[in-house]
Amino acid sequence: MNQATVLAQVARSFANRPALSLGTDSLFDYAGFAERVARLAGGLRALGLQDGDRVALVMKNCPAFWETLYAVWHAGLAAVPVNAKLHPKEHAFILQNSGSRACLATPDLAADLATIDDDVPALEHLIATDGLEYAALGDGKPIPIVETRATDLAWLFYTSGTTGRPKGAMLSHRNLNSMVMNYFGDVDTILPGDSMIHAAPMSHGSGLYGLPHVAKAANTVVPRSGGFDVAETLELIERWPGATFFFAPTMVTRLITAPNIDKADLSNLKTIVYGGAPMYLEDVKRALALLGPKLVQIYGQGEAPMTITGLPKHVFTATDHPRYEARIGSTGFPRTDVEVRVVDDQGNQVPVGVPGEVICRGDVVMEGYWNNADATNSSLRDGWLWTGDVGAFDTEGFLTLKDRSKDVIISGGTNIYPREVEEVLLRHPAVLEAAVIGRPHADWGEEVVAFVRPHPGQAVGPEELDSLCLDNIARFKRPKAYLLVDDLPKNNYGKILKTELRKLAVPAAD
Ligand code: AMP
Repeated sequence: MNQATVLAQVARSFANRPALSLGTDSLFDYAGFAERVARLAGGLRALGLQDGDRVALVMKNCPAFWETLYAVWHAGLAAVPVNAKLHPKEHAFILQNSGSRACLATPDLAADLATIDDDVPALEHLIATDGLEYAALGDGKPIPIVETRATDLAWLFYTSGTTGRPKGAMLSHRNLNSMVMNYFGDVDTILPGDSMIHAAPMSHGSGLYGLPHVAKAANTVVPRSGGFDVAETLELIERWPGATFFFAPTMVTRLITAPNIDKADLSNLKTIVYGGAPMYLEDVKRALALLGPKLVQIYGQGEAPMTITGLPKHVFTATDHPRYEARIGSTGFPRTDVEVRVVDDQGNQVPVGVPGEVICRGDVVMEGYWNNADATNSSLRDGWLWTGDVGAFDTEGFLTLKDRSKDVIISGGTNIYPREVEEVLLRHPAVLEAAVIGRPHADWGEEVVAFVRPHPGQAVGPEELDSLCLDNIARFKRPKAYLLVDDLPKNNYGKILKTELRKLAVPAAD
């Protein structure tokens, strides 16, 4: 099932329901939104794009993202939603790697992208969403939905890998449909007239969970700020009924610690789905006390959107359960249609309570990585996705994540891959070795710290290293501290021991 077909059907049955809103203003009802999508699809095909061609969406949260996402599917094309916060060089890599023939970008980002055209030979159309060319796409002749197969690429989800380069997880129409159906089965109910407010990036989890909301004729609301501003979020909750959000844990914490939150009118708030990083038990309890039983937790990854295990609302309301705290401190139990195992290196299931790698199987698991057979073969084995997460099941079948086998740093709910930062630091001629790790941080979960070993007799300062990072990677990935060392701890194979570095980097106790 193509989500464009889902939209077309919903638009027939719920034509007058609000479909897309900007801030407190309604832009389209479902009939109008479906018509707009069909025209944009016609405009995209008129560019000469063919079945399966990739179209990159490099946009901050905005209505254009939502209408073009559905138009791409309507036109039988594949979407490549890209995190707007990445560095232009990272955008260029994704455009080049995905072989996107067209890129639709918000004006600020389009201007940056225009300067890197040479690096991306496949790119024929770079279209800014405020320009005449975009307006012309919307004036296209509406076309019928182009037939797609269940296994056709729908969403190329760029995640980073252990190699430090982003990898494109190929999500098919079947994968997205499985995620949509699973929302209704395990996460929450949605009624026409409810709303999904996108305060988190639509290129990732928030956008993915926007799909089940369209499928049930809910209103897609894009904040005017294009992101998460607490005052605006509260205003939008007052405006729109049945409001659902997808939040990284740090966003939940920012909301509940906002001044005057106890006086805010939260009666329209229906659900906050949180995930993407661990949330501390104390924060969960504070959120429940303040917001009421509106939380749902999910654990998943781009390779199996959005859910592998989760905690639905009824677990949070069962406060008299003897294992209540253990339950709400875990990442929950497997989704109905996803098989989950915890295994050793050989793939054998380990006993309850013993940590091992989390693997899963089901229709939600990606088709593989785009143009990357090696990565696909190591992540997908006999139909099972090896998540790279280490966890353990308890006697009740609730999963607790222990560690991340890939050393990923999660700061503010966003993954940062150390290798990528290390590679940039190693470009400095005075740097002999670099190792990047995450150090616990009260607000962000973790912050990036770099250990740098200069060549003997050479010197390098933090300012130089910082400007090197600023020139090459997104701001949020750059280290918050540079620790210069004479040597790095290594094991017998010469591999740097990051576990030792983490101990060294722990901030001194007060
Ligand atoms: P991404 O592909 O960017 O969504 O990142 C997925 C990774 O985030 C997972 O492999 C986990 O390491 C981590 N993660 C996702 N959800 C949770 C959760 N609920 N609790 C702890 N870690 C999580």
